[in-house]
Amino acid sequence: MGKLYVVGIGPGGLQHMTVRARQVIEESEVIVGYTKYIDFIAPLIENKEVFSTGMMKEEERCREALRLSKDKIVSIISTGDAGIYGMAGLVLELIENEQVEIVPGVTASSAAASILGAPIMHDSCNISLSDLMTPYELIKKRVEAAAQADFVITLYNPKSKGRPHYLKENIETIKKYRNGNTPVAVVKNALREGQEYEIFTLDSFDDSNVDMLSVVLIGNSQSFVKNGVFITPRGYKL
Ligand code: SAH
Repeated sequence: MGKLYVVGIGPGGLQHMTVRARQVIEESEVIVGYTKYIDFIAPLIENKEVFSTGMMKEEERCREALRLSKDKIVSIISTGDAGIYGMAGLVLELIENEQVEIVPGVTASSAAASILGAPIMHDSCNISLSDLMTPYELIKKRVEAAAQADFVITLYNPKSKGRPHYLKENIETIKKYRNGNTPVAVVKNALREGQEYEIFTLDSFDDSNVDMLSVVLIGNSQSFVKNGVFITPRGYKL
């Protein structure tokens, strides 16, 4: 009898994986994942069978993982949390009666927040700017609604070569509802090799270093920067 684990491996650095994620990777005979993400856990899987594909082959990867898991123990991996723009949804949509366990992980917004200070201390939302599977009109509508409702916003997939203007356009939308001195942070490669971050305001925001390895965090109307640390107050009366 096989089994399929859908594993969030965290932001990339091995010390930020959960104990359960490490356990199931160790237990697995086969690891399935996007080539770059497999590299993050390379030291843990030296003697294992690996099935990796490039970007955009998610369905192929899922089907292969499900097929292999009929008689082997298989982990299909996502970075961050497998249930946040990861593989968990697709696996569950395709599954028939296979045994599956979803193993959660530290998502990019939490990883980035820990580097910046405490920017997500209040109500927040994640929005992906990728329009590969979501119409851009809907993305813009969600950004506007989130800005209007004063959510702290984390933008995933913030900027790619195919859609270089989306990020700037959406920052302009957010500006309609928030003060120009609201903190905006870019965190690249959070908690893995190559980590970098910059803190701007909505007025001074510069997207030149933003890419698909980054998230962008926008504070709410109460957020501020103190000694270089990005804080969104929880509301304690100090
Ligand atoms: N399942 C992942 C998200 C996958 S979508 C998670 O929960 O984190 C891919 C996007 O996530 C990237 O384009 C980037 O915006 C963000 N991302 C993932 N890991 C990151 C990291 N370590 N640092 C910064 N951004 C990251």
